[in-house]
Amino acid sequence: MKDDQEQAILAVHVRGIDGMCVGCRAWWSRLVPYPCWQVDWAIRRQARTITTRFLAGVR
Ligand SMILES: [Zn+2]
Repeated sequence: MKDDQEQAILAVHVRGIDGMCVGCRAWWSRLVPYPCWQVDWAIRRQARTITTRFLAGVR
């Protein structure tokens, strides 16, 4: 269930009012500018999954 993992990351790592990542602060008490590397990773993974599904659907 790797899709769920990406969804979970995107659900927690959201942009705070100050422009910092809420998830990184909550999980690690770190101030990281949004988007953090985890959001970047999840978005890349999702894009790849969608592309794969699209190509599979075409065939
Ligand atoms: Zn984060």
